[in-house]
This record gives sequence, structure tokens and C-alpha cells, in this order.
Amino acid sequence: MKVLCFGSLNIDYTYRVPHFVQKGETLAAEEMNVFCGGKGFNQAVAFARAGAETYHAGAIGKDGLFLLDSLKNAGVHTELVAVLEDQKTGCAIIQNDHSGDNCIMLYGGTNRTITREMADRVLEKFGQDDVLVLQNEINEIPYIMEKAHERGMKIVLNPSPMDGAIAAFPLETVDYFFLNQVEACQLLGSENREEPEKQLNALRKRFPAAAIVLTLGEKGSLYADRAQKHFQPAFRVKAVDTTAAGDTFTGFLMGGLLAGRTVPEAMELAAKASAIAVTRPGASPSIPTLEEVLNWKGQD
Ligand code: ADP
Repeated sequence: MKVLCFGSLNIDYTYRVPHFVQKGETLAAEEMNVFCGGKGFNQAVAFARAGAETYHAGAIGKDGLFLLDSLKNAGVHTELVAVLEDQKTGCAIIQNDHSGDNCIMLYGGTNRTITREMADRVLEKFGQDDVLVLQNEINEIPYIMEKAHERGMKIVLNPSPMDGAIAAFPLETVDYFFLNQVEACQLLGSENREEPEKQLNALRKRFPAAAIVLTLGEKGSLYADRAQKHFQPAFRVKAVDTTAAGDTFTGFLMGGLLAGRTVPEAMELAAKASAIAVTRPGASPSIPTLEEVLNWKGQD
């Protein structure tokens, strides 16, 4: 069983600043770092570190070749990533201020150049029961979903970042939804955030063929499908950076299920993995390996 993460690859340029730059201002940044980013990138790393045989598909420009090295180092197959001449890799310009807030400008770049021909070429390598993992940071997602569904692939969707485009996705083809409460609210079109149980029931009713995973940050997570419901509390840790917590949870829950674990076992594994991730700074570097998770005895 193979996992195909079809998704975004970004270069994250992060700047530490005394305050966010204002209109007309030229501001000196105190520190600058370049990281691998994109939700697709983080998902692929999480699946590979969880032990799944993971392929990434997407597109970069020549400026993003280092992203492929990082994917390979994490154990992800990269031969399905297109490297486009004369095009810029997707990027994010991130300002981090002293109070821990951030402000992000995103440029889609090559993430928005996916063609149907490219999707067909990628998908023909996958079939019945292989797993397709998607977020909402590339174009042509509805087409990719339809074609993958026709091939009998299982579709995992984390509809993030949530925007109007998602309503036009063929959501009835999704087998696993991974949502936090804000995304659940937006997907249900409800104005107020309801109790998690109510959200879960409403999602089950709306998407009866799918399994729903609702993550609740430090409160834990809920799972429901036709056959079962399960609540998994979060492990108590001192969080320093919750970036990629959701992606880690997705990778380890699905990785666990694909390896034959039961839902409660896979949920516990995912909660441990994401608890470890939030104790470390950064996005993909904070995602643990399966071995680390299995040996973890909780935070001292
Ligand atoms: P997202 O990052 O997509 O918003 P969540 O914040 O809900 O996702 O986090 C996903 C999972 O990560 C949670 O269900 C929980 O298991 C774990 N997690 C998140 N924040 C913490 C925390 N502060 N302490 C322990 N575990 C956490």
C-alpha cells in the first residue's frame, strides 16, 4: 500500500522583526532564516516518519531543489515532483514579532501550475487501496480527487487553508476528513462553534461514507466512522510551537491504520507523535520518527 501526498512545496523565508512592517516603512530585520515549508511538504514528512511508503507529487522551480533533498532525507520518494524551468517555487514571507505573533504573505508559485496531464501521469502509478493525501494549497484538486476515486484510491483530506474553493470539491469522494474545530465550523457553514460532539455528529450526517477525525488541540481528538466512535485525550506536555501538530497527527493516525493498528491504537500513536512535535520548535523538523514515538515515555 503506497501513500501519495499530492501537495504544496514552499520555501519559507522567516524574518524576526521588532514589529510588523508598516505602510511606507523600511524596517531592518534582526534575523533571517530559510526553511522548507508548505502543508504538503509537512504532510509527506509526517507520513514517511510514521513508516508509510510515501511519494510526493507537486511542482517546484529550480530555486526549490533543496526541498527535494529534505524530502529524500525524510524517506519520501520525490521522482513525481516536477521541476519547472523559469518558474518560481511557492514561498511564504513570514514576519515573527517579539510577542510571538506572525504575519504571512504567501505566493503560490509552482504550487498553482499543476496540470491535468501532470495529475494523470502521477495517478497512473497508483491504484486500488493506495492512499491520496490532500490539503488546499495546490490547483486542480477537484480533478485529482475524481480521478483518484475512479482508481479506487482512499482519499484523505485536510481542507486547510479553508476557502470558498472547498465547497466545489467533490467531497463525497473523501474517505477520511482531518479537521480542527475552526475548519469543521467552516465546512459545516455554521457561524458559531458548537460542542465537539455536536460538530462530529453533524459531519457524520453530512458525509456518511467518510471517517471524521476532529482534532481539539490540547484537549485531544475525536474519531467517528460508521462502526465506531473514539475519544483520545492529548498527552500533557509543555508546548513551545504547535506548527505541524495537525499534520503530524494525520501522518501517524493514517500510518498506524495502514500498518494494521486499530483506531484506538492509531489515535494514541498520533496523539503521542503530535505531543512530541509541539515540544519542539519549527514545522517539519519537529515531526518525530516512529521509533521515537514508540520509545516515548512522556515529558519529564
Ligand atoms: P491543527 O494544528 O491542525 O489546528 P490541533 O491543534 O487540533 O491541529 O492539534 C492536533 C493534535 O495535536 C491534537 O489533537 C493533539 O493530540 C496534539 N496537540 C496539539 N496541541 C497540543 C498541546 N498543546 N499539547 C499536547 N498535544 C497537542
